[in-house]
Amino acid sequence: DYKDIATPSRTKEILKKYGFSFKKSLGQNFLTEPNILRKIVAVADITGTTNVIEVGPGIGALTENLARAANQVLAYEIDGRLLEVLAETLAPYPNVTVLHEDVLKANLSKDATAVFSQNYPVKVVANLPYYITTPIMMRFLEADLEISEMIVMMQKEVAERITASPSTKAYGTLSIAVQYYMETEVAFIVPKTAFVPQPNVDSAILKLTKRAQPAVEVIDEAAFFRLTKASFQLRRKTLWNNLTHAYGKDEATVSWLEQSLEAAQIDRKRRGETLSLTEFAELSNKMIELKE
Ligand code: SAM
Repeated sequence: DYKDIATPSRTKEILKKYGFSFKKSLGQNFLTEPNILRKIVAVADITGTTNVIEVGPGIGALTENLARAANQVLAYEIDGRLLEVLAETLAPYPNVTVLHEDVLKANLSKDATAVFSQNYPVKVVANLPYYITTPIMMRFLEADLEISEMIVMMQKEVAERITASPSTKAYGTLSIAVQYYMETEVAFIVPKTAFVPQPNVDSAILKLTKRAQPAVEVIDEAAFFRLTKASFQLRRKTLWNNLTHAYGKDEATVSWLEQSLEAAQIDRKRRGETLSLTEFAELSNKMIELKE
């Protein structure tokens, strides 16, 4: 379809018409490959009974493809210069609402209630601004808004961290935070040549599907996440070093930590990054049970 916003020639034409200059500080790398956009929409399985939230529509390349497939699209764009561009490029799609807002400050559930006229499942689909990938991910994971799936493009290296397994270099608190709530899968890799301007690294489309229940059963989520953070603090040290560093070295704490590790059957000489989500959950739960 030669009229697609995302063709290199139409993108160039639009940018020229508005005298638009990219802001690197806002992570502006626009997709100019219609086939990749269609693939993203296919992976996201968007239908007439899906509502979509998009972060950073840019000049509307992905938004247009979402609008064609979805019931409604709600898009947050922080760069005011793009508002008049989007008003023109997305004029044919009345089911799109663009809000001029920082997604990290937006009231997601309030906006969704105000914009979406049908109570359909909400999916987040976005080519993320890479400088704030992790805060955006955490924001949606912790939002008081039910999100069934997230299909998001990010740096390949961050996608690898999110999907990482224990005992790999990429495994860390981000892997655990996301995997706790979502099933994760790298859908496909996107070469840097698919963007203007080209980023320095390749990108990946990640498909995250909300679990019916969190991956592991924990007594206290805050305590569980505190434990995972503590365990990765000093990366080349043992779990024991990390735990005493975070929770304290006094006699009572040392004894409590020893008992908890023993009850969870975890060797204190292991490194934090070798523990699975199940082991972290087990240890966290024992720590709470033995706290009294
Ligand atoms: N969706 C377009 C595409 O695929 O071609 C543009 C993607 S570009 C990687 C990221 C977009 O996010 C830019 O349009 C940028 O202005 C916008 N953006 C950056 N920070 C943002 C924020 N905090 N809230 C909302 N949008 C933001």
